[in-house]
Parts: sequence; C-alpha cells; structure tokens
Amino acid sequence: GEALAVSARVAPLGSRLVLLLVEDLTEARRIEAVRRDFVANVSHELKTPVGALSLLSEAVMDASDDPEAVERFAGRMQIEATRLTNLVQELIDLSRVQNDDPLDDAEPVRVDELVAEAIDRCRHAAGTKQITMAAGGTADLSIWGHRGQLAAALGNLVENAVNYSPARTRVGIAARRLTAPGGDHIEIAVTDQGIGISDKDKERIFERFYRVDPARSRATGGTGLGLAIVKHVAASHGGEVTVWSSEGQGSTFTLRLPEAGAARDRAQQHPVLD
Ligand code: ADP
Repeated sequence: GEALAVSARVAPLGSRLVLLLVEDLTEARRIEAVRRDFVANVSHELKTPVGALSLLSEAVMDASDDPEAVERFAGRMQIEATRLTNLVQELIDLSRVQNDDPLDDAEPVRVDELVAEAIDRCRHAAGTKQITMAAGGTADLSIWGHRGQLAAALGNLVENAVNYSPARTRVGIAARRLTAPGGDHIEIAVTDQGIGISDKDKERIFERFYRVDPARSRATGGTGLGLAIVKHVAASHGGEVTVWSSEGQGSTFTLRLPEAGAARDRAQQHPVLD
C-alpha cells in the first residue's frame, strides 16, 4: 500500500533510508490508530455518565409527587456528576502532562511535602475504610522536577492503593536515595495489602482507560487514566514507574525519579548561555 509506494520512490536513495521511511510510516499509522482509539474511548466514557444523568433527570420529573424517590434519584445524579467531573479533570491532567515539558519548570521538590500532600488527598477515603497510612524515609530528600506533576503522580498511586484495598489494611509509603554513577535517584514505593494484579494485567494497567475490573473502578470513582498519567510523568522526568504484585496479597508501585542535588549540579555545570 502506501508504505510500499514510498519505498519504491526512494529506493535509489539507499536501503537504509527506505527502511527508516517505512518504519516511520508504520509508526505514524500506529500513532493515528492510538489517537482514534483514544477519542473513541473518551466519547464512550463521557456518554455513560451523561446518559445516566439524562435518564435520572427524567425519572426525577416523573416522580415529582414522591419525595423519597426524588431524593434517591437526586443522590444517584450526584454520583454520576462526580464521575463526570473526575473524568474531565483527569483528561485535563493527562493533556497537561503530555503537553508541558516538566523540566522547563523544574525545581527541587521535597519528598516529605509530596508524601504529606498525597496522604492528605486520600485521608477521607482511607478513613472511611479504616486504612492506616504510614510514611518513612522521606526526610532530607528532594526530587528535581515539576511540583504539580509529581504531586499528581504520587497522589494517583496512593489513591489506587486505598481504592483497591479492603478495609482495615495498611498503605505504606517508603522513600530512599539510590546512588548511581549517572546521578542519584529517589525511589518512592507505595505498598498496599489489597487485591493485587495478575501478571497478564500488569502489562496493560499503564494504558489509558485500561482497568482490570471496570465496574469496581467506576464504583470507586476511577477513570482508568491514573496510571497512564503516572507513567508519563515518570518518563518525562527521566525516571520510571514499576510494579510488583501478588494476587490477593497486595501491590507495590515504585517511582524512580532524579534527585534534586545531582540534577541541579548538572544544570550548573552546563549553564544556559543567553
Ligand atoms: P483507575 O482510575 O481505574 O484506578 P488507573 O489507571 O489508576 O485507573 O489504574 C488502572 C487499573 O489498574 C485499575 O482499574 C485497577 O484495576 C488496577 N490497579 C491500579 N492500582 C492498583 C492497586 N494498587 N492494586 C490493585 N489494582 C490496581
């Protein structure tokens, strides 16, 4: 098809270039397919709560002489509206992390502050399930990065740990410095005693909209975008996110990110000339 036509045109230029062009085209097609899937997924995810809201508002009107029913329907409308708000917010977050280079606004970000913020964000959900949250090793550590993006990434991991754990379990957050020749890194591990993730699903959970159990994810207000945001933030900071999990026992998600000291030293060694 298209790819072959291109290779025929450029064939005299050398096989190496042909190969590159063909690869580029395949890559361009793949990106286009991913984009189309994404738009289809977004449309589907938006339609679900909007459809529910529309049906529920009709139900409210039909039940206007039954105050109890009105209250019940209104409660469900509130849940659907929250779901819609979460989804729109996560879509905005995702597009921000994809568009803004975090290193343009990089600064030293204290790990104890990030962790405190993430715990704060989940305090209510953890409280209702009597989940204990504990953090350790965070003192005197700083990451070189974009404060808002780092907060969003860690917040998503802690939120998931709480969401996918049964009542009266423990969520632990442990930080440490990793010394390496290429520059030091900070590792933050979020460990839960929750439902765990199968090996098959482990490969896919970082994809946009992928959920192991869509019904459960929706019930907890999940959008399927959280881990895609985490993965993007880690990669754009020059780090990574990894997962260890055992079904029925729990999971550990580990973020590895550049340490502020080392990154700042490098920036000073190569000052921007302007
Ligand atoms: P969601 O909004 O559904 O939580 P995420 O992208 O954050 O979306 O996560 C994708 C899926 O990975 C979740 O739906 C869930 O099935 C699984 N998952 C994420 N974190 C955990 C965890 N700590 N324990 C078990 N499963 C998890």
